[in-house]
Amino acid sequence: MTSPLKCEHKGRHVANVAVNNIEDTARFTADVKIWCADCGMPFRFTDLRTDIISTRHSNKSVPFGEEARLPVEPMDMDGPVMPELLEHFVSEMPPGTRPTP
Ligand SMILES: [Zn+2]
Repeated sequence: MTSPLKCEHKGRHVANVAVNNIEDTARFTADVKIWCADCGMPFRFTDLRTDIISTRHSNKSVPFGEEARLPVEPMDMDGPVMPELLEHFVSEMPPGTRPTP
């Protein structure tokens, strides 16, 4: 393993995703962590909303920014998809490929 002091973290990377079913709700989260596979240095998340970056959960403490707790759900789940997100993706699609309501 490369020393973190000599590693530029540009080689291989490893990610771990833990999907959690929040008890008694119809909600899920995906806790995402990323490391440099060459030296083991954890990556931190940047430019995420503060409510998505975990600082602590369960019995363990996670250094700030090291884990993102992303809200997720199965694709077949009923309920609204973030309308502003859909609007954004549709607006980025080339004319003629946009879905019609
Ligand atoms: Zn590295």
